[in-house]
Formats: sequence, C-alpha cells, structure tokens
Amino acid sequence: MGEFDLIAKYFDRPVRRSPLGIGDDCALLQPAPGMQLAVTSDMLVEGRHFLSTVDPRWLGHKSLAVNLSDPGAAGARPLAFTLSLALPSADAAWLAGFSEGLLALADAHGCELVGGDTTRGPLCINITAFGEVPAGRALLRSGARAGDDLWVSGTLGDARLALEAFRGRISLPQAIFDAARVRMEQPQPRVALGQALVGVATSAIDISDGLLGDLAHILQRSGVGASVNAACAPQLLAATAAGLQLDEAVVRELVLAGGDDYELAFTAPASQRAAVEAAGAQAGTRVTRIGAIDAGPGLRVLDAGGRALAQDFAGFDHFR
Ligand code: ADP
Ligand code: MG
Repeated sequence: MGEFDLIAKYFDRPVRRSPLGIGDDCALLQPAPGMQLAVTSDMLVEGRHFLSTVDPRWLGHKSLAVNLSDPGAAGARPLAFTLSLALPSADAAWLAGFSEGLLALADAHGCELVGGDTTRGPLCINITAFGEVPAGRALLRSGARAGDDLWVSGTLGDARLALEAFRGRISLPQAIFDAARVRMEQPQPRVALGQALVGVATSAIDISDGLLGDLAHILQRSGVGASVNAACAPQLLAATAAGLQLDEAVVRELVLAGGDDYELAFTAPASQRAAVEAAGAQAGTRVTRIGAIDAGPGLRVLDAGGRALAQDFAGFDHFR
C-alpha cells in the first residue's frame, strides 16, 4: 500500500470545514466572526507516551483526546485537526483500528481531519488541533487571583494506577484494573466543560503531568500561590470509591501527582461557585473544590486539619 492509497483508505473523508478537504497543499479554515483560532500540538512517541501493546483503536482515540484536552482547557470549541504519522510499515489491521478510534472521537466532537503528513519511520503520532473561542475570552494560565477557589474536574489518579499495574508494581482486582485502564487508554477531553467555564473561571489548565505539576504552571503564570486540601484525595481516586484499599500516602501521590488524567484544573472567584456547579452539570462532568489561591507564592498541600503535609510530591518516586 502506497502513501496516497493509505491516506485515501484510512483518513480521507468528506470535510465541511475546509472547502478543499484533504488532498491540496493546505487546508483553509475560517473561524466564525468574532472568534479567535486556538491552536495546539501534541506528539505521542512509542514507549514514552504509550505502551507498544496498546490496542490501536485506543491509541487513535488517545492521540486525539490529548490534543482536544488543550482547546478544552482554553475554553475553545474544536474545529479541525491535522495528523502527521511516522509508521514503521503500512499494517492494514493497525491502520484500521487506529483510524477508527481516532475518527470516532473526532466525530463525537465535530472536529474534522483536514490534512497531515505520512512518512515511514519509528511509530510517532503528531496532531495539531484548531479550535475557536470568542475573541479575548480564552481561559489562560495567567488569570488566577488571590482568594479564588481551586477546582478540578472528574477524578484523578486512576490512569496512573493502571500504569503502575501494567508495570507490575501494584496488583489490582480485575474490575478495578479494567476501570482504571479505561481512564488510562480512553481519556475524555473536557471540551464541553471548558466552553461552559468561559466567563466563569479565571484560569484553567489541563492535567497531563499530574495536578500539582500542572497547577504550578498556573501559579507561575499568575504570580500567586495555592493551598490544596489533600483530604479531597480519596474522593478523587475513583478506584478508592470502588473499594480499593490503598495506603493514604499512595492515594495522595496518585491523585496529586499521578499524571495522564486529562481533567481540568481551574480557578474561579468564590462568588462563582453556583456558576461553576452549573457549568459542571451542563457539561455532565463532576467538579470538586480542592483548595484556594493565595497571594503569597508557593504551593502548600494541607491535611484535613489545615496543617501542611511534609510529603514530597515533586519527584513522585514512590513506585520507582
Ligand atoms: P505535501 O506534498 O504537500 O506534503 P503530501 O503528499 O504529504 O502533501 O500529502 C497529500 C495530502 O494528503 C495533503 O493534503 C495532506 O494534508 C494529506 N495528508 C497526508 N498525510 C495525511 C494524514 N496522515 N492524515 C490526513 N491527511 C493527510
Ligand atoms: Mg507531505
């Protein structure tokens, strides 16, 4: 199968957003009047970002999901994306699974594949996504203000729990492993929530590297500090709710520093609590208030009594 046959067979579908569809030198995109284009790119490399054993369908899903997570965090509506693929060989079964998972998520978000590049090489997937957001209203990392509440969407830590199980460092009951694996392999980008938070949240980021690490980006860009209530951790790890018994410190590490969650961390004034809850309800996504933004710099993790925890989350080396 040649390069052009491969593209025609697996990736070329009718496109409404670009008048040319796939196949010309460039795709042409037109954001609606009053909207800004929001552009983001993420690369996935075998061994680094995914296990070589992953079902190609879920790899296709996740490749786009991690890219739609960023427009979600900006409050943008995804419009289109490009796909650059390096493939060791044109494996028909792999391509069928990968394109199926990829395009199913694309369809679910009304986000169209408008172009890309295909080459032979070690398996590597790069996607660039284009979204639109009302001009000047995108959610940024820089908008957090002292006194704001700190919120997260969904649950945290289960993707990392599954990874640790895959690595054989932790053993899980089958049902919990299956559920955690879905979180790891099939993240759902919080695109609807992000859009619902425009005009409500003051800042947002998507959690890819772990809550505390990504929150640090908001703090740095906004010139503020934060206090995080670690007592929220057990209620944020879905596996704990499902009956998994784990050491408290491990639960905190998974939730606060686990990574690969693709949930949103965001801030909003206390006066917007009802509006945040309404945005969560509208998007069908749980939102949990986990702390507050402080005027002074630094990130404090507090226990239920409000005392700072000594636990060091920076390295998250519990399993190493
Ligand atoms: P160029 O010579 O301009 O780089 P290519 O020959 O690489 O173009 O690609 C031909 C067309 O197919 C272009 O419109 C390109 O956007 C599209 N394309 C290539 N690879 C992919 C892919 N993996 N997914 C979607 N479209 C692709
Ligand atoms: Mg090319």
